[in-house]
Amino acid sequence: MEIQRDNGKSKKYSWLTAPSSFSVYKKAEASCLESCICERKRGLIVCTCCGKSFVGRIGERCNAHPEIAYLMDARNCAFCGAAAKDLRMAADQM
Ligand SMILES: [Zn+2]
Ligand SMILES: [Zn+2]
Repeated sequence: MEIQRDNGKSKKYSWLTAPSSFSVYKKAEASCLESCICERKRGLIVCTCCGKSFVGRIGERCNAHPEIAYLMDARNCAFCGAAAKDLRMAADQM
């Protein structure tokens, strides 16, 4: 009885991952997010110069919105002042 119910459940969920509707959504999302980095998440930034790390976002110009500057984004290492090119994002997923 219980096994039958589980089978019915998993079948019900299969439509959620149907490739037809998913690919359309993914396509629209990718075209928007690939060039725009404005909405990127904060993360752990590691300085390759001094090896220290801090939380924030590396200051980058958004290809989609080059006129927008984010003052909170790090353009330099908070510890040694190294340029943004020496900063790397550590483990993106927490
Ligand atoms: Zn943008
Ligand atoms: Zn540094």
